[in-house]
Amino acid sequence: MAAKIRLFVDQPLSPGQSVALSDAQAHYLFGVMRLAEGAPVTLFNGRDGAFSAEVARAHKRNGTLAVVERTAPMVPPPDLWLLFAPIKKARTDFIVEKAVEMGAARICPVQTDFTNSERIRQDRLQAHAVEAAEQCGATYVPEVAELAKLSALLDRWPEGRRLMFCDESLTGEPARLAAAKPGPWAILIGPEGGFSDPERARLHGLPFATPVSLGPRILRADTAAVAALTLWQTTLGDWR
Ligand code: SAH
Repeated sequence: MAAKIRLFVDQPLSPGQSVALSDAQAHYLFGVMRLAEGAPVTLFNGRDGAFSAEVARAHKRNGTLAVVERTAPMVPPPDLWLLFAPIKKARTDFIVEKAVEMGAARICPVQTDFTNSERIRQDRLQAHAVEAAEQCGATYVPEVAELAKLSALLDRWPEGRRLMFCDESLTGEPARLAAAKPGPWAILIGPEGGFSDPERARLHGLPFATPVSLGPRILRADTAAVAALTLWQTTLGDWR
């Protein structure tokens, strides 16, 4: 049997409820996946957990699902943010998708001195995050923030959150989070051009920042994001 389809819906969920499908969702379920009335679907909304549901009405451009029961609680990822400088469109999409799969709680595109891209489509990136959560079995969808200046984010940095600063100038040193403690964290990945000298100097002086190497080779930003998430999850996160 094919794996059950998982669908994100942005509304409260509880047993017995009826869920009206959007045009795009109806097209996907009935046009693309060819589901008929009675077919099972898994629903989640990022808050209430996962629910089994059945197709109650199937039309080309609309339809409804009937929620049967809650099958799993909502499991949030660890309190880990991913800050990254947006790069080319396809690679930025990749970073958002992988951040969701790897278990980031919040995704923050940041503008650095050498950021290649001046703007992002937040709505498009958020839609990618939803799709990734549907694919990977998550019951939580990280929020993709609007593009913000790194310097401004550092000015009003939240109390108690640590920053794993992935610093390409440390390439070749052992990749580890020495003496790091679990708790709220953020990972920072730079753009293709890396960090400027003033940025690096500031980051090294911040009491909440831990400069980290990602091994003996210089990674592209998208690879670096996945590597950093792996290192954090294995050392401090939910891979332990
Ligand atoms: N152009 C830069 C490299 C930028 S790589 C140079 O040649 O020096 C893009 C980002 O990935 C970096 O800013 C850093 O955050 C991360 N990164 C890549 N390789 C890394 C490594 N070996 N150690 C730590 N961070 C790394």
